[in-house]
Parts: sequence; structure tokens; C-alpha cells
Amino acid sequence: MESDSSRKKGLELLSKLAQAHGAPGREAAVRRIFRDELGSVETDRLGNVFFKKTGAALNPCIMVSGHMDEVGFVVQSITHAGLIKFIPVGGWWSHTLLAHRVRILTRDGVEIPGVIGAKPPHFLTDAEREKLIKTDDMFIDVGAATDEEVRKRFGIRPGDSIVPESPFISLHNPDYLLCKAFDNRVGMALTIQSLQMLCEVRHPNTVFGVGTVQEEVGVRGAQTAGQTVNPDAAIVLEGTPADDFPGIPVEERQGAVGRGVQIRVQDPSAIMSPNFVDYALDLAHSHGIPHQVAVRRSGATDARAFQLHKQGVPTIVLGVPARYIHTHNSIIHMDDYLSALRLTMAILENMDSHIFENLIAFS
Ligand SMILES: [Zn+2]
Repeated sequence: MESDSSRKKGLELLSKLAQAHGAPGREAAVRRIFRDELGSVETDRLGNVFFKKTGAALNPCIMVSGHMDEVGFVVQSITHAGLIKFIPVGGWWSHTLLAHRVRILTRDGVEIPGVIGAKPPHFLTDAEREKLIKTDDMFIDVGAATDEEVRKRFGIRPGDSIVPESPFISLHNPDYLLCKAFDNRVGMALTIQSLQMLCEVRHPNTVFGVGTVQEEVGVRGAQTAGQTVNPDAAIVLEGTPADDFPGIPVEERQGAVGRGVQIRVQDPSAIMSPNFVDYALDLAHSHGIPHQVAVRRSGATDARAFQLHKQGVPTIVLGVPARYIHTHNSIIHMDDYLSALRLTMAILENMDSHIFENLIAFS
């Protein structure tokens, strides 16, 4: 019964968060959801948001965080003909962009729909068909005749942020969910839901739920969030790239959709605390939580900044594998979300000062 209500709440959060507009540096809509869900929250001067839950002890202080931003774009200029030139903000592959819908957020808070224009095949030369078109050569059409109309009537200006248009849907098997921005609204939903659950249980520590800004442009918010919270340990919650599709050898797969929460051991930006990884693995085993272990050849998360705060912060990354991230349409499995939630809660309900001392014991 409890897992039914967790599933329902998780779905509600995922739907709301994934559809919110939150390009790097423009995370207000996600911050509003965090505030609505958790009530009394604080922000720092970069826009990171914090919710503190004190348990039975002040220490250890554990930070549970997700990044609020998603990969998006920014308006660079407007052509005389009223078309919008744009720059990617975060990692995109331009193959995935042509003929896709986007939403431009104006200063007045209005979202203007548009489409990234694509030449029809009728006008393509043989050479053009073979090549990758650069984003610099693309434009967004919002249905206007002149630059003046775009500026005055639509209220669009250079600097306005742009995100994919992509409604949240359950697929034919309703455990599979499809939307933009599961990287990282999955982490935000997990952060919010775990803090809400923590308010109902006893825990031997103090926990900060955190939403960071600007992760997709080089983990910028995480640097100030670490200063603000000054945590003893950190759990980074992420929508991580799934690798269970053709072209990746089966024996190298470590992020299959539907196979459980992903415990990341290492990526080029962070070697996770080995003691913390072992502790998470032990908890996953003892609680029967489906999980998979990942050693990543590429990628980075907020762990990069958190682990280097002050004398060092034992940090782990828990991921929900998401296929096709950094595109308009990514797919996750609800059971993986719930596995990540269970493991996060197991850590938060168990980690007391004695366990924390073991995490930072080096031989
Ligand atoms: Zn991410």
C-alpha cells in the first residue's frame, strides 16, 4: 500500500517537474515546485534552493541533491525576417534537433511556441543530405513576419531561454515514461519525495534537500551549494544515460532501463567514496533493492564539486537510467525511480554518526 502511494506521488512529481521550463540559469519554475512541495525553503545568491530537516541528531549533516536545470538553448539574435538564431546551453547533438518543437520563455513569463526549421528534402542537395547541420545554421520559427513583430508583439529578446516542447506521457506499458528533461527532473523528484518521506520517519542525522542550478554548464551551482550547506556527506540524485540499446556490447551495459537504481562508482570527474559506495551496496543487498553498478567512461555530475568541499565530502551518485537524455524525448522506468527512492531513504534512515565515522576512516 505504501509503495502504491509512493508510486502515485512519484508520477505526479515527475510529470510536473519534467514539463517545467528550466534551462541553465533559468530554473525559476522548478524552484517554485520545490517550494510548493516542501514549504519553508531558503535560496543562496546563485539560485540554489535548500530545505532542512533536522532529525534525532544534528550530525552527520547529509546533503541530498538534484540539479534543477536541463539542457536548453538561449536566443542569440533575431533575423529581419523574424526567425530566431540560438545557441545551445549544455550538451546537444545537432542531429536530434531539426523539426522539433520548442518553447521560448520571455521576460514577462510567457512561453512562446516555435519549431526548429528544417529544409524539406525537396530542396536538399546530395551533399547536404550527408552532412551534420550545425546549430549555428539552424533557426527557430515562431510564426512571425518581421523582427519587430518578434520583439514587440511576442516579447522575445536575446537572452531569453528555450527548452524542448515535450508532453509527459506513459507509454503502452505504463511503467515506461516519456518526456524531456528526465536529466535531471528525476533527481529533483527524488530529492523532494525523499524529504517529504523523511518528515514522517525517525532519522539519526540532519538532512538538507537541495536543488542546484547550472549543472549542465559545468556544475556551477554545486560549488556554492556546498559552501551554503557545508555537508558531512552528499548523495547526488541523477537521471543518468541508459546504455541498453544497439551498438553498446551487452557485457558493457551498466545502465539498463528497468534493472534498478544505478550506483555510480566513478566517472572522469569524480571517484566516489569507496566506503560510501560499499555502504550503499550493502544497504541495497540487505533491503533487496534492485541495483546496478556503473563505472563511466564519460560524464560528470555535481559530485565533482561536492566531494572537494573543505576537507572533502564522501559523495555518491545514485542514478535512474534514462534512454536518449539530452534530446526532446527520454524514457525511464518507474520501478527504477522507486528503487532509487528506497535506497536514498535507507541511507537517510540509517546513517548515524558512527556509520559516518566509518565512511571517513582510511587505513
Ligand atoms: Zn544531469
